[in-house]
This record gives sequence, C-alpha cells and structure tokens, in this order.
Amino acid sequence: MRALTWHGEKDVRVDEVPKPEIVNPTDAIVEITATAICGSDLHLYNGKMPSMREGDVLGHEPMGEIVEVGSEVETLERGDRVVVPFTISCGSCWFCETEQYSLCDNSNPNAEMARKMMGHSPAGLFGYSHMLGGYAGGQAEYLRVPYADVGPINVDSGLPDEQVLFLSDVFPTGYMAAENADIEEEDTVAVWGCGPVGQFAIQSAWMLGAGRVVAIDRVQERLEMARSHGDAETIDYENEDVYDRLMSMTGGRGPDRCIDAVGTEAHGTGLDGMSDRVKTGLKLQDDRPYVLREAIKCCRKGGTLSVPGVYLGRTNIPFGSVMNKALTVKTGQTHMQRYLDPLLETIEDGEIDPSFILTHRADLEDGPDLYETFNDKDDECIKVMLTP
Ligand code: NAD
Ligand code: ZN
Repeated sequence: MRALTWHGEKDVRVDEVPKPEIVNPTDAIVEITATAICGSDLHLYNGKMPSMREGDVLGHEPMGEIVEVGSEVETLERGDRVVVPFTISCGSCWFCETEQYSLCDNSNPNAEMARKMMGHSPAGLFGYSHMLGGYAGGQAEYLRVPYADVGPINVDSGLPDEQVLFLSDVFPTGYMAAENADIEEEDTVAVWGCGPVGQFAIQSAWMLGAGRVVAIDRVQERLEMARSHGDAETIDYENEDVYDRLMSMTGGRGPDRCIDAVGTEAHGTGLDGMSDRVKTGLKLQDDRPYVLREAIKCCRKGGTLSVPGVYLGRTNIPFGSVMNKALTVKTGQTHMQRYLDPLLETIEDGEIDPSFILTHRADLEDGPDLYETFNDKDDECIKVMLTP
C-alpha cells in the first residue's frame, strides 16, 4: 500500500509499504478515507523528536472504514465508518479506568525507553516515534488499530469527512486545553498560537464561558481566522510586546487563563529567543520554551496555565515565577476517548463545524509537498486533509 514515511529531517516520502494485518484479536484494520497533517507531525518533520527510524509510517489524525476486525472485537464490524483518535489506550488499566487515556499503562510496547527518559511511559501513539510505541501511522491507505473497542468512534450520521475528521486530535485537544485552563464565567483567556489547536482552544474557551479571548501569533491569516471565526482580540507578537499589550488590556492584572498552543518549536524574538536557539543548537536544552516563559510572565497571580503544546525534554523555564505567583499548570497529551462522544454531539447539533480550519485538500501522493507548505506556513496553509 501507499504511505507517507519519515526519512530524516525535512524528508517525507510516499513509499510502498506492507499492508497492515491483524496482529492481536482486539485489533481492527481501517481503510483510510481522510487523514490530516498535525502541528505535532512538524516536530518529526523538523527532526526534533528522538527515536524516529527511517521508513516509519507517519500520521495520527485518520478516519475511514473498518475492513477487518479481530476475533475479540465487540463494538465494531466491517463497513463501520470510524474516526480514530491518536492515543492508543487499552481501556482496562487504572489510567484508562480513570479516563486518563493518554497515560495508558499497557499500550506502549517500548515503555522501557520512555521510562528511562521520563520516569514513566505515557500511552502509545500512532505514527509518533519508537519511544511512544513504534506504531505505524495513518497517513496511509490502511491502518492497524490496536484495542479497537476502546479507540475509534462510529460516525454514521452522514456528516462529510471534513466535519468529523478533526475529532481524531485537534478539536478534542483544543477542548481539553480550554478545560485544563479552569475557565470561570467572564475570565480573560489568552491563547498563544493560532494554528488548528489554538483555533479550537479559542472556540472551546467560549463554549466554557470565557468573557474575553485574546489570541497571539504573527501569521496574518491565522490571526484573521482567530478574529473572524473565533471572535478573539488579537496580538501580532512581531509588531507588539505581548506582555505590555496584555497588561494594558487587563488593567495590569494579566489574563486569568493562559494557553500555550505553540510548544517546543516556538519562534522567539529578541535576546530571549536567540538564547533558546543557541541552547538547543548546543544541545543544552531540548525545547525552545519561549511561549511558556512568556505565558508564565503574563498570567495573572493565582491563574492557570494550560499547555497542550508539545514539549520534548529538558526545558528552561522560570519555575520561581510559577511558585511565587501561585500558578496552576496543567498539561498532557489529550485524553482523547473522554471527548469523542460529547464533541461529536456538538458537531451533530450544529453547535460547531470543525471544517472551518481546513485550507488544503489533496491526494496522499501530494503529502511530501504539503508537509513543506504547512511547515513553512506558505500558501495561507492552516490545515491539510489528504485522501489516499
Ligand atoms: P501549528 O504549527 O499549525 O501552529 C503553531 C502556531 O504557533 C503557528 O501559527 C505559529 O506561527 C505560532 N507561534 C510560533 N511562535 C509563536 C510565539 N512566540 N507566539 C505566538 N505564536 C507563536 O500547530 P498546531 O497543529 O496548532 O499544534 C500546536 C501545538 O500543539 C504543537 O506543539 C503540537 O505538537 C501540539 N499538539 C498537542 C496535542 C496534545 O495532545 N497535547 C495534540 C495535537 C497537537
Ligand atoms: Zn495531531
């Protein structure tokens, strides 16, 4: 079958790879009808994520039709149309039972590698390095889905792919980011990053009762989407000092809730930005936490910092400010399965149409070019959907 594969920094190819087969009786095979490229894939594309191997199949935002199920799969059958969430979860460990699906104790066969680095292993993820399971991803014609009764959600309501596809990651991720921000009625919520995750965090902040939403980026069409679709006030961080502007907008108090929807590859300005580039270049730190530092600085005392942005390892942040300002920090890969049903309902009820973020539709074969376009933010690209 055809699949997008990783061959090193900025080297994604379309390769012929073996079609997946049922390995465990709880597996299902999905024939992919639509699959997206995520900001998280860009960390792989830019060679930031350790434990990737030549030829790994990429992708973790797929949907399609079930073509085969293992003998122990109970809730799905051939012909079902499903969206597959990016976290792989067993459904029966303590973490899954307490709905912390991205922390599943059983789904990462390479848990030891992750344990050595982090002390414990999170869940396995599709197409996201060997340290996180070494699972083949969904930017392909077919995908093997382990624990098929726990992950995929049936979408038989006739909604087109582009309206439900983003349940696979970025809609629930934006939603959990807003939920993690502990938003109270009339709070001011600041969102760094107006990519797909930031856009859904903005939408979700309103859904959860925010009084005011401020969005920060420098890419004009993304800021425009945050204003026009997200009803947010915006700050272009290249033209204005973010701290000064946020303080003047909030009478010196700072936003109550801050969301870092940028993560490890933040673009930094000034000396602070340069210091991140030098330190990562010299391998003195693994991330460029420019946004995390800025959010810590801006957040009001006693406020909440929610971090959906992906970080990889050792990161230089002023923890003294977190402590002395009594900030609450919440983060994590999204506990996807928690959000699938309720968010599908919001789409079916017409409360939200997630396809507003989609700017580029193409064939799987165009994947390598679109990785480049999306990474460089060329051609006003905000979200790519590929069809195998
Ligand atoms: P994206 O790359 O499309 O968007 C990131 C945005 O951040 C860009 O628009 C960029 O211009 C902006 N940005 C860069 N530096 C900035 C700065 N200093 N200030 C403000 N904005 C800045 O990515 P995305 O798909 O929206 O994903 C965003 C982050 O969320 C990534 O780190 C991704 O890995 C992560 N993510 C996490 C989860 C999870 O489960 N926690 C799931 C999906 C994605
Ligand atoms: Zn993703």
